Amino acid sequence: MKRFKNFLSLLLVLLMIVAMFTGCGTPTTTEPEKPATEQPEEPEPPKEPEDEKEEPITQSYKAGTYSEKVYGYLSYLNVETTFSDTKITDIKITEHDETPELLAMVEEQVVRDIIDNQSLGVDVVSGATMSSMAVINAVSKSVEAAGGDVSALRANRVTKEPGPDEEYTTDVVIVGMGASGFMAAHNAAAQGAKVMAVEKGASIAVSNGLRVSGPFAIDTPVLRAQNSKLTVDKAFYHMMNYSKWSVNAPLVRRSLETSSESVTQLLDMGYEFREADFRFETPFKGDYGGFHLILNPYSERINIWEKTLKEDGVEVLYNTTGEKLLMDGDKVVGIEAKRRDGTKVTIHANAVILSTGGFIGNKQMIAEHFSGVTFNPAGGSLSTGDGIRMAQEAGAVLDKTFGLCGNEYGGTNTKAKRSAKQDKFDQNTAFKFGFYGVLNVDAQGNRFMDEGKLVDYPMSFGSEPIMRHSPFYTVVDQAYVDAMREIGLYEYTRAKGAPDDWVIGEYFKGKVLTNIDADLEEGIKEGWVYKADTIEELATFFGTENLKETVEKYNEHVANGFDAQFGKDPMYLSPISEGPFYIVENEFSAWSTIGGVRVDENLRALNNKNRPIPGLYVAGADAGSLYSTPYYDVPGTFYGLAIASGTIAGQEAAKFSLNN
Ligand SMILES: Cc1cc2nc3c(=O)[nH]c(=O)nc-3n(C[C@H](O)[C@H](O)[C@H](O)COP(=O)(O)OP(=O)(O)OC[C@H]3O[C@@H](n4cnc5c(N)ncnc54)[C@H](O)[C@@H]3O)c2cc1C
Repeated sequence: MKRFKNFLSLLLVLLMIVAMFTGCGTPTTTEPEKPATEQPEEPEPPKEPEDEKEEPITQSYKAGTYSEKVYGYLSYLNVETTFSDTKITDIKITEHDETPELLAMVEEQVVRDIIDNQSLGVDVVSGATMSSMAVINAVSKSVEAAGGDVSALRANRVTKEPGPDEEYTTDVVIVGMGASGFMAAHNAAAQGAKVMAVEKGASIAVSNGLRVSGPFAIDTPVLRAQNSKLTVDKAFYHMMNYSKWSVNAPLVRRSLETSSESVTQLLDMGYEFREADFRFETPFKGDYGGFHLILNPYSERINIWEKTLKEDGVEVLYNTTGEKLLMDGDKVVGIEAKRRDGTKVTIHANAVILSTGGFIGNKQMIAEHFSGVTFNPAGGSLSTGDGIRMAQEAGAVLDKTFGLCGNEYGGTNTKAKRSAKQDKFDQNTAFKFGFYGVLNVDAQGNRFMDEGKLVDYPMSFGSEPIMRHSPFYTVVDQAYVDAMREIGLYEYTRAKGAPDDWVIGEYFKGKVLTNIDADLEEGIKEGWVYKADTIEELATFFGTENLKETVEKYNEHVANGFDAQFGKDPMYLSPISEGPFYIVENEFSAWSTIGGVRVDENLRALNNKNRPIPGLYVAGADAGSLYSTPYYDVPGTFYGLAIASGTIAGQEAAKFSLNN
């Protein structure tokens, strides 16, 4: 509306100027014509008729406080909105289990914008979209209940005008302040470089690098204290054989060698770790798996990052998106970025590090690389492939490996409110079945994998088949549901012969699905679970036409104690015989994309002649030569290699910048 009025005003001014030049429609005057070279005087801005003056939208409400319960990202939020006769006067979020630091930003920005502007057309917080949308939706519902006009409030868009262009000069500029970007900043600063960074999110608190459970690393003080026998050689050869040497060997080796330095730096900053070999089955059984579980709570990690960046003198521009690399011939000499309000930012630097976290938030790129895969991102919606695109525009090429790093906590479904996230968050436990080793079938009702792999190695061997066959369907009977409610997966599988050194078993110890009945009911209501007395009827709901035959064959394997089709460990074979039966529709979900820019062992972006592009470095998920697909079977390698690659890129970029 405001924009339209501005446009009208501009149009009127332009018409007046045109009219002055052409004389068209102007009253006849006796003044002599002005010489053509003389500029017309600035005409007075036309006055708007009184009744066209901008008025705030007048609303009429039934005064009072209205309460709405809506689902955000991790939990329900209870939002209380108070109205006078004509205004929204207060908004309070009285109950929630969202991340407090992110919700505080929503309160500060979204709630304030709604009240100040009496508008529902407000911006969401970058990095807290779901919580922001939840608040906007709750207030919308309350406006409706109070008799207000939601569409008028939504149409009243709050627009922010761009400020004057900004220009900076620094030694190293980093695009994306996540796991790798943060380490790159710290290490570049340690070399004596002046460092700046741009971050798309509204604050450091949105970073995935702060939400992780932990990194894989070798020969760290944490492992040494436990006399770990794990060596760089052992991990390196394992990972190279696992990936069939499809990744950049010198880079992987250097990253593994650097992993100890990265973890030591985090320890020095105030991080605390515990070696946790219980996460998944590990290829290094008995040697300690190298997974460093972070013990600091999220809020403490934010403080550590903020303090470190301050001490390092790193200036971070938040709500600022890196868009383009500045080139001088074939050299990269800085970036162009844009603030949320549209302000143009130019940063000149001898070296640029791209660390924007891959492209899980970019639907078009996902379709290009994984056409036909049904999946839901489990994080990283701000990672939209910007770093990869910027590098390509500067002449960098992509490496050959692309994949997805799957979510090990269970299935998801777009129909469900409470899909599987990390265990510590609210999730519908019916999504666990798909990852418990029981029968999984594809859209036609055919079995397609050794389901035990989803228990033991959910992110590597387990991830690939469910990615390809997503959505996939899990089938269980009532006896299995009862067992999970009463004793849980650990006791159940131990009773079926799980060995004493069942590493992943430790993780399931004590995890009993006490809420499973209510969760299945919720799934049935939402349309992703179906319950039936017969397998024939069960097959009808999602059209899994071969289900009956598959279940019969599967029950034969169970009876024989031997999976003749895929060789699944007998401890994961459970009969499907006691009705009622349940079928759960799971959609694959992933934390991050794998694949991006081809880089050398110094994290320098390479062109199509495998020559480095001077001044351009790429770290973390944007780097295409580091991660294998399927994802490594070594827990924590995503974050571990992200921080190691950030460490190397920061050091190399600083050296390059200071020497040029
Ligand atoms: C919730 C969650 C938990 C995880 N836990 C683990 C774990 O425990 N262990 C493990 O190994 N891996 C884990 N991962 C995988 C994780 O993606 C990596 O460990 C790691 O965060 C990748 O680091 P990165 O620097 O490449 O990207 P990120 O850490 O995702 O950082 C990228 C940053 O770039 C910013 N950005 C994007 N585009 C732009 C732009 N154009 N301009 C400016 N900024 C931009 C983003 O806002 C983001 O802050 C987890 C992922 C998620 C989502």
